Order: sequence, then C-alpha cells, then structure tokens
Amino acid sequence: MSNDTLDLTVKIYGSAASDPLDEDIRYSEPRRHAVLELRPRIPDVLNASRDQQALAEWVKGLIMDLLPDVKHSAEWYCEFCDKPSMETHEVMMGWLHINPPKLVVWTHHVCDAVVGECALKLKDFDSVPGLPPSVPMIPPRDPSKTYTFPLARTCLYCKNDSSEQQMSRCSRCRLSRYCGTQCQRADWPRHKKVCKMVDSATWVWK
Ligand SMILES: [Zn+2]
Ligand SMILES: [Zn+2]
Ligand SMILES: [Zn+2]
Repeated sequence: MSNDTLDLTVKIYGSAASDPLDEDIRYSEPRRHAVLELRPRIPDVLNASRDQQALAEWVKGLIMDLLPDVKHSAEWYCEFCDKPSMETHEVMMGWLHINPPKLVVWTHHVCDAVVGECALKLKDFDSVPGLPPSVPMIPPRDPSKTYTFPLARTCLYCKNDSSEQQMSRCSRCRLSRYCGTQCQRADWPRHKKVCKMVDSATWVWK
C-alpha cells in the first residue's frame, strides 16, 4: 500500500498563432492541448497525520509552484481569440481521500482572465456540471495599479520577450522554456522542485 505520491494530471488548453478563429475548427478533436502527468511526493508528516485539510493546503501550494512552468511551457495564444496568452486560469477537481490521492487541473491560456470578452468566456468552465467553482488563482486587481503579465512565449526566468529567438526547453521535463543555458541554470533552484515531479508531457501541438 503506497500513499506517498499525489496522482496529478494537468491539462493545458490554448491556441497557436496560426489557429483559425472558427470555433468549429478550433474546438474539433483532437483539440490543441498538452497533458502533464506528475507524481509529487507527499511529505511524510502529511501521510502520517492523514489530515485532509493540511493535505489540501499542501496541494494548493504545489499548484502555485507549478503555474509559472505551465504558463511558459510553449508559445501559447489565448484559447478564445488571436492574442498571445498573458495569463492562465485554473479549474480543479480533487479526490484527496482516495489512495493514492488524485487531482486533475484544467489550465486555460487567455489574453486577460479578469476583464473583457475572453474573461467572460472563462465563466463557462465554472458551470460544467459536477465541477466545483474554479480556484481563484488570480488575485483581485486594484484599478489604480498597473499590472504587467509576461507573455507565455517569454523566457521562464528573465521574462524576456524572445519571440525572435529560438528557445531551449529543459531536457529533463520537456516543459520549461528558457532563452539560454544561463537563464536555465539561474532558475534551477526554483524549477528543480517542479522538474522532478514531471513524469511525462504529451503534446497535441502541430
Ligand atoms: Zn483572448
Ligand atoms: Zn531568459
Ligand atoms: Zn525541467
């Protein structure tokens, strides 16, 4: 009996610059997406305590750690329009009481997850029967402040807009993208936690 890893699946949806805006074409199967299978190790103390609340908190922190890597995994465009992706929106469903605990995360790449037409379209995902309301990953915005969200096509570390440049992908997880080895090395202390839990990444891309 092994209860020491979380069975985590992340499904990423978005589009590419070349995708037609016609919804019948864009949403026909197989729809553009990536599937990540991850097996993060559950800390021993959580395994021993079987405290569901504490496990849920740990899972939430884990997802927050994972989000930057998911966002910068490819040159994603908005799922609904022809603008580059600036943000991601997460919908989750968990079965943390089973053995091993299971979590599925649907990640949607969008131009703007808070304001505008595409933000409204995101609300449809919250009304899927059987799915709980999405976890609000994007904090409420203060209208008096200016926010900058790096494009999904930028380097995961320096957030440099490298659209003109060939990006390199982490050879172990085949997920995180960098403008060069210098940025990859600099990001390793942060990225290694995510990198080591990636079992596989399947792309339905071209
Ligand atoms: Zn959009
Ligand atoms: Zn860089
Ligand atoms: Zn990696």
